[in-house]
Amino acid sequence: MKRRSLERRLILWFSAALLLMAALTFVIVFSVSHSVLQKLLRDELVHTVEDNLDEVEFFRTLQQMDKDGDTDQYIRYGVGYLEIDDDFLDSVNGVCTALYRETGELLYGENPIAGFEPESFADGETRVVRARGEKYYVFDRRLESPGLRALWLRGVVAESRGDAPLYFVVRVCLWFLGAVALIAVGGGTLIARRALRPIRDMSRAAARIGGGNDLKRRVPVSPAGDELSRLAETFNDMMRRLELSFEAEKRFVSDASHELRTPTAVILAQCDEALRGERPAEEYRDALAVVRRQGRRMSRIVSDMLTLTRMERGADVFEAAPVDLSALTDELCRDMALIADKGISLAFEIEPGVTVDGDAARLSRMLSNLIGNAYRYGRENGCIRVTLKRDADEAVLTVADDGVGIAPENLENIFERFFRCAPDRSDGGTGLGLPIARQIARAHGGDIAVQSEPGRGSAFTVRLPIRKKVG
Ligand code: ADP
Repeated sequence: MKRRSLERRLILWFSAALLLMAALTFVIVFSVSHSVLQKLLRDELVHTVEDNLDEVEFFRTLQQMDKDGDTDQYIRYGVGYLEIDDDFLDSVNGVCTALYRETGELLYGENPIAGFEPESFADGETRVVRARGEKYYVFDRRLESPGLRALWLRGVVAESRGDAPLYFVVRVCLWFLGAVALIAVGGGTLIARRALRPIRDMSRAAARIGGGNDLKRRVPVSPAGDELSRLAETFNDMMRRLELSFEAEKRFVSDASHELRTPTAVILAQCDEALRGERPAEEYRDALAVVRRQGRRMSRIVSDMLTLTRMERGADVFEAAPVDLSALTDELCRDMALIADKGISLAFEIEPGVTVDGDAARLSRMLSNLIGNAYRYGRENGCIRVTLKRDADEAVLTVADDGVGIAPENLENIFERFFRCAPDRSDGGTGLGLPIARQIARAHGGDIAVQSEPGRGSAFTVRLPIRKKVG
């Protein structure tokens, strides 16, 4: 089935509705005018006959008649004469009046429905008679002046006479209908075109975006602030998120291949070296140890990248539950104090009963990333200090060390994925620990900030909203 465009459908609907309304008005005007005109016609018939009643008189002798010089008519009637005054309107405006005997014999005047007229007379009554396929109104009056016995006046008028002015109305209405049809189609086309132009622009822009695979393009947003501008804004917003997610995907692939290239190269080199000829068992063991270390590193990079990408895309959804941050921090600090790498000691000061809403496993990972870094970038025999306290309605967790510190120009970059101040792969870092920690803090409604002085140490501060007491 051929699909009609929205524009054409709108025009069709509006035009049809407008035409229907105009036609309905036309029918109403027609029927009201018809009944009013018919009523006027019947009234005119009655008045004409009533007026003619006084124009017929009886005289015994011709001498008695009014000799006023008028062109009156005289008819012999019984023992005298009937005088029909010249004011008698026997045919005026289509209304014919005639004088009859009660027997039905026509004495004077015209009878347009001869042969079809009613046999009897009905005084003061308007009746409808069909003659030669046409409708007529008939009105009778008995003459009651002295000497006028058994005489009747009958008025007849064709119903179609009342419709004559209506033909004019019909003609005007038909012109009007034609004009309305033209205005409806023309105006409808104009309005529909104008209203749908933004949609056309949007679909063209969307087609260009799709065709050129160019996610940076945006559709134009009209300043009208109507539904269509909101649609364009939503579309652009969707495109922006699509672009971001596409960029994240692209970055993931390029970062992954970049980061995995070195361990892969090391593993391959070790394997090539070991397979080059017979070697002592010691060398094979060393080669396998290198392969295992690089393999673990690759595995950590891939798993960290997946975690981070899931978090950045908002796909890492968790059920928030009350977490006793004080107990969690205390336990983790006790465990991590055992690492005692490079003779570093770990001291902690924890305010009890600090509870937040969130996920214990993720919060634990965030803290262990920060303490892990403090060990990795701490100085020999240094000290790590972990504190947790409540500040108004926030939990403030600080991990401070007295290690290498961070140069001011790097402070902003350390939270970017794979950023490392000193890209030395031997320390086991992946450059993903801090971005993951920040994502976890943000997923809990908080954030991480850093203060550092090169050569003197760094302090990472996490602020999280405290769980509101229920009730
Ligand atoms: P990495 O796995 O390399 O530690 P992170 O994302 O955890 O990755 O940290 C990014 C970079 O920030 C590190 O390579 C390091 O240069 C710097 N950094 C992080 N924590 C500290 C710290 N406590 N002291 C000094 N530098 C740090």
